[in-house]
Amino acid sequence: MIVVIRPHAPAEKVEQVIREITELGYTPSPIRGEFQTVVAAIGDETTHASLESLTALPQVERVLRVQKRYKLASRESRPERTVIDVGGVKIGGDEFVLMAGPCSVESEEQLMSTAHAVKAAGATILRGGAYKPRTSPYEFQGLGPEGLKLLAAAREATGLRIITEVLGEHDVELVAATADILQIGARNAQNFQLLIACARSGKPVLLKRGMSMRVEEWLLAAEYILAHGNPNVILCERGIRTFENYTRNTLDLAAVAIAKQETHLPVIVDPSQGCGRADLVKVLCRGAVAVGADGLLVEVHPNPAEALSDGQQQLDPEAFAGLVGELRPFANAASRRL
Ligand code: PEP
Ligand code: MN
Repeated sequence: MIVVIRPHAPAEKVEQVIREITELGYTPSPIRGEFQTVVAAIGDETTHASLESLTALPQVERVLRVQKRYKLASRESRPERTVIDVGGVKIGGDEFVLMAGPCSVESEEQLMSTAHAVKAAGATILRGGAYKPRTSPYEFQGLGPEGLKLLAAAREATGLRIITEVLGEHDVELVAATADILQIGARNAQNFQLLIACARSGKPVLLKRGMSMRVEEWLLAAEYILAHGNPNVILCERGIRTFENYTRNTLDLAAVAIAKQETHLPVIVDPSQGCGRADLVKVLCRGAVAVGADGLLVEVHPNPAEALSDGQQQLDPEAFAGLVGELRPFANAASRRL
């Protein structure tokens, strides 16, 4: 870290800072200028207190971090891309991965017909919420364990891998018994106990970005999972809250590019929650490909008008198949297999 001392600080105040740095367990290297001194402090922050508290001293102007706070997620810790193998489906490699399915698992007929349709269109992973985080307690809350059984049956019938959301720490074991990937939703993206419990399940974890999370906070949430021994983290951008109301959320494609630059983790885009409008999903998928996303999470329902959740943003199977066909040349232009 770099400790910047205010210009014209008296020598004894500079010495006090240097002493504090040593006492906190770091090795100080002062660089004394004509008016101002800066002190480089070398040491392991994971085992010593952060030097940021030194800003409490009036003679300290700023403390700057040299290393990223998300040590394990950062590209510096691992220059090569992380490729996650989910039962043969590789996420983060050359293939552009399609995860698709209904917002909520509603019935056997609904899930099976969607599963077969998305598979035929090129998806390799089936999405579907059995536990739903709904804004109102009076809205459909998901089928729970029954929904997990239907997901397992759909995997059996189609060979698709399963991604489904886990809402609470106490459900992790049950959901992990069925899911190939655990989804942590936007509303839970900083539920640190849940992140740790998912990490310990050993299953790959797809971490949505919280609706008001900065990129650094999102990457630090991923860091929780990595730091608790699970290297298989997939980041998912799903839009953030802004003042704009033509869309449900503002899909932040810049954040996708930044996450790809900053980390070695796969990054997926969810254009469905990202805009909340079926008519925009297709073009946003193209945007996702263009900024370097590793795949998509798209909501598909056999009859969106009758969906029990998020009908306004779900595609019917035909629209999804059309989307994939039209996306292929874009993916190939971006050197991704689809
Ligand atoms: C969903 O995928 O249906 C969902 C609830 O997503 P988010 O957590 O991004 O709102
Ligand atoms: Mn949804």
